[in-house]
Amino acid sequence: MTHTTEVSGTANHPGSGDWLIGGGIMGQLIRSMDWSQTPLGPIDHWPASLRTTVSLAINSNFPISLAWGTHHTQIYNDGYWPICGDKHPYAMGQDFTECWASAWPAIGAAFDSALAGTTAFLEDQRMFLDRHGYLEETFFTFSFSPIYDQDGQVVGLFHPVTETTSKMVGERRTRILRDLGAHGFGAQTLESGQRQAAESLAQARFDLPFVLFYQLADDRQSARLVAQTGLVPGGVASPQTIDLTSHARSWPLAEAAASGGTVAVDDLHARFGDLICEPYPEPINTASVYAIMPPGQAQPVCYMVVGLSPRSPINEAYTSFCDLLASAVTTVIANAIAHQVERQRAEALEAIDRAKTAFFSNVSHEFRTPLTLLLGPLEDELAEQTDRLPATRRARLETAHRNSLRLLKLVNTLLDFTRLETGRMQAVYQPTDLAALTSALAGSFHAACERVGLQLQVDCAPLPQPVHVDHDMWEKIVLNLLSNALKFTFAGAISVKLLSLGRTVALTVQDTGVGIPANELSQIFDRFHRVKGTQGRSHEGTGIGLALVQELMTLHGGTIQASSVVGQGSTFTLTLPFGAD
Ligand code: ADP
Repeated sequence: MTHTTEVSGTANHPGSGDWLIGGGIMGQLIRSMDWSQTPLGPIDHWPASLRTTVSLAINSNFPISLAWGTHHTQIYNDGYWPICGDKHPYAMGQDFTECWASAWPAIGAAFDSALAGTTAFLEDQRMFLDRHGYLEETFFTFSFSPIYDQDGQVVGLFHPVTETTSKMVGERRTRILRDLGAHGFGAQTLESGQRQAAESLAQARFDLPFVLFYQLADDRQSARLVAQTGLVPGGVASPQTIDLTSHARSWPLAEAAASGGTVAVDDLHARFGDLICEPYPEPINTASVYAIMPPGQAQPVCYMVVGLSPRSPINEAYTSFCDLLASAVTTVIANAIAHQVERQRAEALEAIDRAKTAFFSNVSHEFRTPLTLLLGPLEDELAEQTDRLPATRRARLETAHRNSLRLLKLVNTLLDFTRLETGRMQAVYQPTDLAALTSALAGSFHAACERVGLQLQVDCAPLPQPVHVDHDMWEKIVLNLLSNALKFTFAGAISVKLLSLGRTVALTVQDTGVGIPANELSQIFDRFHRVKGTQGRSHEGTGIGLALVQELMTLHGGTIQASSVVGQGSTFTLTLPFGAD
């Protein structure tokens, strides 16, 4: 059979095909061809059923192909032409099964079923076509339906088809980008960011047969392979390190950084020989190298090398997918770096905190001895000289004594806290009548409150059952809260209430003091945190009282919460479980 793409209107061929009207360019081609040498015979001898079917097909706008006769001779229309790629014009008149042999695993069963009389319809069927000189991954929605002659025999197949490659591949690539965002979201370090990205991209072999991540070394002279998929580490195209200063043939990482972030590499064979990896047996010809430079970084922090599928055209859709991929990876890496910086900051703060605690612990120990030695003689002096001392000298001694006691209390709190911190404080839980203990502790503040004109209301009705607490610790809890209330309240009242709530018991210590600004409330339980500018009755304090109370409550399986309105007062609410829990 001969093919002529030029249109000849004359009738040099056996048969003119004049009966075939219209049909665009394929109509002209069919009329111009010599069909006498094909299984269909001269065009003017074609049976009426074939004439009608061809006429119907070529005058349709929808892509249609026919496979007619025992040799499945293929005839197609203008709409179908682009599907043929380089197979056109040879495909016109060719045996359909021969023309589309590479797609047979996907379409063979449907073809045979239609030949046997049953129409087959397949949607978004994946298949590989050799229409542009290589096996190309494509998707089609199509049907094969039988065409019967007058005797009821299947004489041909009617094959309307629509190509859905760009839709299917586009959706798949969108999923890759979405999964990468979700998968890489929680990465905590630059390295784990690259590893998580590689893990996610391992699911994307059809579009990214291999991906390599190289991290820039601190001296910026080399890059180290941190994560990869598709290639084994240390292979010819996946060396463990790449020297950025050398011109040896490897991945052009330095060039990517210098040329605005990306370089396309299409001489893979010259660089690495045949580079083959799953899922296809053909060597990979093209790759892209990206320098990943998160916002705010002057240098790339890492590089991503992506291999492109040997079965997809390297068109704009593919390259823009890779560019989007590089942006998504940049986001993953930027988040990972932000986490890393934040964690390092938190670690540094913790280290400072620990150093502070250690310092306080040492200092408190050092302070305690001289303080005790100071208090002893002062107390002796006050006891012995009570009647003999003139009032002014006595007052001086009493001030010295009171302030030494205050200092000792402060030093002891610090010591308690450091003991808690280092796990050296052991609690002894005893079933306790908490109402009695609490009202006795609160009662010790009556005199102090009276002295400064504050009302103290204590409401601790007996509880239905005992509460397991360590007495010393409970004392510290109550006294700390009450001294704070006293310190930060200049007028009004302090109230202490104990209430059974069924399974738990609640203690509230409420004052009508200066209050705590809302933005400080969450921090007052932090160690060494003090609200700046708050007016207190005295300046003493270290900002660890509430931190200590909170730690002690946690030891007791309880909680503490604060609420406050500036200028109106604060309420601290503690809850503890009943029983030995
Ligand atoms: P300290 O009292 O030693 O500074 P705390 O840990 O006991 O440390 O308290 C931390 C901060 O919380 C105090 O400095 C104060 O600013 C604020 N605060 C605590 N209790 C009250 C209260 N009852 N009223 C107002 N502010 C309070």
